[in-house]
Amino acid sequence: MALTGIQIFKLLPQTNCKECGAPTCLAFAMNLASGKAELDSCPYVSDEAREQLAEASAPPILPVQIGKGVRARTVGGETVQYRHEKTFFNPTALAGKIKSDMDDKELDQKLKVWNAFQFERVGFTLRPELVALEDANGDADAFAAKAKKIAENSEFNLILMSENLDVMKAAVEVCKFKNPLIYAATKDNFDDFSALAKENDLPLTIKADSVEGLMEMTDKLREEGFKKIVIDSGSRDVKKAYEDQVNIRRAALKKSNRSVGYPTIVFPCEMASNLDMETLLASMFIAKYGAICVMSDFASESLFALLLERLNIFTDPQRPMTVVEDIYPIGNPDENSPVLITTNFALTYFIVSGEIEGSKVPAWLLVKDTEGLSVLTAWAAGKFAGDDVGMFVKKCGIGDKVKNKELIIPGYAASITGEIEEELPDWTVTVGPREAPHLPAFLKQRQ
Ligand code: SF4
Repeated sequence: MALTGIQIFKLLPQTNCKECGAPTCLAFAMNLASGKAELDSCPYVSDEAREQLAEASAPPILPVQIGKGVRARTVGGETVQYRHEKTFFNPTALAGKIKSDMDDKELDQKLKVWNAFQFERVGFTLRPELVALEDANGDADAFAAKAKKIAENSEFNLILMSENLDVMKAAVEVCKFKNPLIYAATKDNFDDFSALAKENDLPLTIKADSVEGLMEMTDKLREEGFKKIVIDSGSRDVKKAYEDQVNIRRAALKKSNRSVGYPTIVFPCEMASNLDMETLLASMFIAKYGAICVMSDFASESLFALLLERLNIFTDPQRPMTVVEDIYPIGNPDENSPVLITTNFALTYFIVSGEIEGSKVPAWLLVKDTEGLSVLTAWAAGKFAGDDVGMFVKKCGIGDKVKNKELIIPGYAASITGEIEEELPDWTVTVGPREAPHLPAFLKQRQ
């Protein structure tokens, strides 16, 4: 059972040294109780207190790592019911299902196509992470061969789907180096499957016919100290599956029910008869609250929509997306190339840099930290003022890279021209277009 802030406070050193970043031990205790702080931030907790606090301060939904490499994912670890309360942390991992009796050539082709589904968006590469390999006929060798092929020849990580111990053992043996998720331990094979997961230190799915059915098995594993658990409530009826997701999240967060405090896996592929309907269901589960979502296939047009939704749902609503304040060379610029400046709101940066790139005019783009505000908002908030911009241009070192000291500022910030010129007497300030799409014509014309 989770401890209250006051109970946690009693176990802390109570010196108010502030090293954890909180102003007092009490404030730290309150943050710990609400999942906003990590126990490790306080270096002075005694071993005895640490033992008592570790369980109580663990995230209400435990994080579980699936896979290795660029497509590895941590799922779970969420601390809020609603995104606006803080943020959702670990994006839903998307899996495409493949059956173990698929022809090798067809599998190669499928992996090639799925691997190509990678989309660049605001500095992130959006792509699916998992292949859910389903045992088609109890053939352990065939299942293991497919698992090995996927693990060794692709970036994809694996969900191994079989309830047959021999089949699962064969696949685990050849692909455990990729930290696959075992699916699934049920009441019939629980002892064998949980032993296999523990022995190989792999994440394990617990599947039952109901939420209540899950709890007995998860409690047993937790008592044994095994926490790499994903849960499947077994519902394949859309309404019931949706209710399960909401109830599990609520029980874990609001009632501190540790028995269901694990990431969930959902199967739109078993709830719909076509990919369009699956996509619709997957979009629902990305919002509420599937940690892993298994599809029967990926198609670029529907996958793109899901990945984009996922990106939006799993970004912090209270913090704009930003890029680092810096000098960004675009198109291999030299000492005669134009110098432009903009703000560090990610969308602004990617639109402006994209237009400059599209113009084929090599240029230096200065990105000033405006706490993630766009040009007009930053200017209105005083975060893109002339003296600030001038100081940034001086300190960033662009003066050493160009001969022609001309700074092109966004049209929306035209009114700061005079202030910049005062701060940068060696520079000429030119007012550029207000809108980024007009940049290519503007740059080409100057050439
Ligand atoms: Fe208290 Fe520990 Fe934070 Fe210091 S670091 S204020 S002792 S909780």
